[in-house]
Amino acid sequence: MSDFVVGVDLGGTKIYTALATLDGEVLSEVKVPTMAAEGYERVLQRIAETVSEAKRLAGVSGKPRRIGLGAPGPLDVERGIVHVAPNLGWRNAPLKASLEKLIGVPVFVENDANLAAWGEFVYGAGKNAVDLVYITVSTGIGGGLVMGGKIYQGASYGAGEIGHITVFPDGPECHCGNRGCLEAVASGTAVAREARRLIAHGAGRAVLSLAGGKPEAVTARTVGLAAAQGDAEAKGLLDSAARWLGIGVAAVLNLLNPEMVVLGGGMMKSAPLFWETLEDEVRRRALPSAFGAARLVTAALGGRSGLLGAVAYALRPE
Ligand SMILES: [Zn+2]
Repeated sequence: MSDFVVGVDLGGTKIYTALATLDGEVLSEVKVPTMAAEGYERVLQRIAETVSEAKRLAGVSGKPRRIGLGAPGPLDVERGIVHVAPNLGWRNAPLKASLEKLIGVPVFVENDANLAAWGEFVYGAGKNAVDLVYITVSTGIGGGLVMGGKIYQGASYGAGEIGHITVFPDGPECHCGNRGCLEAVASGTAVAREARRLIAHGAGRAVLSLAGGKPEAVTARTVGLAAAQGDAEAKGLLDSAARWLGIGVAAVLNLLNPEMVVLGGGMMKSAPLFWETLEDEVRRRALPSAFGAARLVTAALGGRSGLLGAVAYALRPE
């Protein structure tokens, strides 16, 4: 029997793979572009290639004991079927069965945000916690729940979809079809959209200049950089998103009373610029007992939350 496991964080742009000992010590990591446009079979092949490369780098041979894999949801965890993954172009993809056939070892598939929550719980900010809510704020907003030391999946594996809580009834359209979802007003995509709106009205000059004068090149990162340089309009855009996010976090605190909320994702690179606004909003809206019990922190593992969650899941699939 082999004495190592593999964790895979499968995203629309990259496949991130790690190999670890049965004690959870990571021996090697490999990151390659997903190249989803080349099709499902090719992506499977690329995953298998990262496993081989991770073995080579770690100097081990044989097959991993198990593979834990985080995939974009919604998905059927038991059967390992990804129902809809727009950024991979997949519908009802039988990921678990396909990979088990290709690589010949048991594969455990979970939602990527759930595994990021699990990664922070096992290795990161939530190491000593029992209940933890993880929220990732990047191009979209996702969430994962660890309740009583276990991933909480919900009746159809859909728990934790914090990004699609309505916070603004007549707000902007969300790609889920609803209006005014948290994701539609507080994600990096929303921040970039609002920045472009300012620019279209002749404002937002600092942001535009950092984007090389091209409105279409404006991202949340550009806004973050402008705010870091002291631009008030950019800071206003971040604060506005932070207020919406605070409304969402307060709802989560009132519903679940977790001891910890971990915020990750690309937007958190700018967290020091809007953290106070976020915290003020959460304090204002959450019940005092829920606010007082919850530690609000940024992810300790950065871009590796999902990867290490996949490793931990391979070691102990729930
Ligand atoms: Zn939505």
